[in-house]
Amino acid sequence: MAHPTGPKFSATSYDFESYIDCPNLIGGEWTMATDGGEMPIVNPRHGAVMGNVTMSDAGDVDRAVAAAKAAFPGWRATPMKERVQVLYRLKQIMEDNLEELIWLLSHENGKLYGESRGEVLKGIECIEMGISIPNMIAGGQLDVSRGVNCRVVYEPLGVCAGITPFNFPTMVPLWMIPQVLVAGNTFVLKPSEKVPYGAVKLGHMLKEAGLPDGVFNIVQGGRAAVEGLCANPDIKAIGFVGSTRVAKIVYERGAESTKRVVALGGAKNHLILVNDANFELSTTNIPASAFGCAGQRCMAASALVVVGDCQKHVDEIVRVTQQIKLGETLGAVIDDEAVARMTRYIDEAEKLGAKVLVDGRGKKGPGAGSWFGPTILDNVSPDMPAGCEEIFGPVLSIIRVDSLDEALRIENANPYGNASAIFTSDGETARYAVERMSAGMCGVNIGVPVPREPFAFGGWNDSKYGHGDLTGFDGLRFWTRPRKVTTKWARQSDQTWMG
Ligand code: NAD
Repeated sequence: MAHPTGPKFSATSYDFESYIDCPNLIGGEWTMATDGGEMPIVNPRHGAVMGNVTMSDAGDVDRAVAAAKAAFPGWRATPMKERVQVLYRLKQIMEDNLEELIWLLSHENGKLYGESRGEVLKGIECIEMGISIPNMIAGGQLDVSRGVNCRVVYEPLGVCAGITPFNFPTMVPLWMIPQVLVAGNTFVLKPSEKVPYGAVKLGHMLKEAGLPDGVFNIVQGGRAAVEGLCANPDIKAIGFVGSTRVAKIVYERGAESTKRVVALGGAKNHLILVNDANFELSTTNIPASAFGCAGQRCMAASALVVVGDCQKHVDEIVRVTQQIKLGETLGAVIDDEAVARMTRYIDEAEKLGAKVLVDGRGKKGPGAGSWFGPTILDNVSPDMPAGCEEIFGPVLSIIRVDSLDEALRIENANPYGNASAIFTSDGETARYAVERMSAGMCGVNIGVPVPREPFAFGGWNDSKYGHGDLTGFDGLRFWTRPRKVTTKWARQSDQTWMG
């Protein structure tokens, strides 16, 4: 019998293992891109090539979209209660093969086993949300006049596409897949070319779960594939997750061809620390937020705005950070380009007067891959690049201010708006701050304020272009369009305002 997750990845430790080359999935067939271009898939811990990923162009995209278009009428006609059966089986397959999925994710992305486990489990939670939709979505009808009833039905859009980043190869596709499929759409997923294995596993598992061919397709590749998706007139909606630079391009290109687009972008998340903050909670949570997943989370703390005298807290955050061990409690970063970028930011901040309290430059982990140690910069000003730009690595910049209002002014002035959080023991201070933060996802005493299902995920300002959010019910709204049905069945002859 075929393995339910496709070719088996047999690693059960960080020891290097090579794996398959990554194909496209089009109309149920695994195929290589037609022009034959490929890119190496590098294990970031070891800097060694696991396999190659096929690089698609617009022609490959068009074939995948045609397959999705052909599969749409049949999938749309399948009752929602039957569509979700695929997700029940997908959840079961993922749970039965959890260890394999966790280790493959760790190998392709560089994150630690525990972080990979958290990602896969969060992906399964997204599936659970999808499964529960039919039991929660009923409603939306009213007799609006004598004998006249209005109801609203959320209809699928048709062929939809998802474009995803390198930092969550399994979870971010699962921010979209459940809602897209439960709604009755068909899908073309374009994963990050740096981490294509998570998507390939999802392709195999969805097939094993009984999803009809063509409903879920994968085009591997980079810019050319994304441009093909933006230009294809048969794609009705795109969900994008990645950097702000590309989010903007995808939003603009998609809108040009009248697609619905929600494009989640990059971040510079501010944590505000007030000196009444619970000592233990704040001094463990803040480094965990900044350095978990090697700082490569769009929800990671990257600017710590310290209000007044919090020196005791800062000293402890430094001490906790110094205990972090590369390869054991901090994973590899995605590639050497990322290492060079972080190094540049820290060199520059130092020249501009910041003090390096913990220095991750040049630190090596237990493999020949891409490593960067946890780093804390002090006395950063909000206009330094390290104080206002996304570094996307294990680097925390401390900005010192005298008042909460000043902290909020700095947070508000930053062009991003993904997440913000405050650490305080005072409810009024927390409420005052949250009401004034300029961010889509806010936290109190929590360093990574990710809204869990059924709440939706999405930032504000330059952290998101387009309307709506992904995940939760808002995700379902994004991937559907409301049909309003007004019906008059009335024997009485009296005229109502509806004639
Ligand atoms: P990225 O923008 O480089 O890549 C994202 C996707 O866009 C990939 O599939 C990639 O192949 C494609 N792409 C890259 N360059 C392109 C170009 N010039 N034209 C068209 N397509 C292109 O992002 P990344 O480096 O993979 O991921 C890290 C970024 O993603 C960070 O900025 C992080 O904050 C952000 N992110 C945001 C969220 C969120 O929810 N807001 C979640 C995860 C990651």
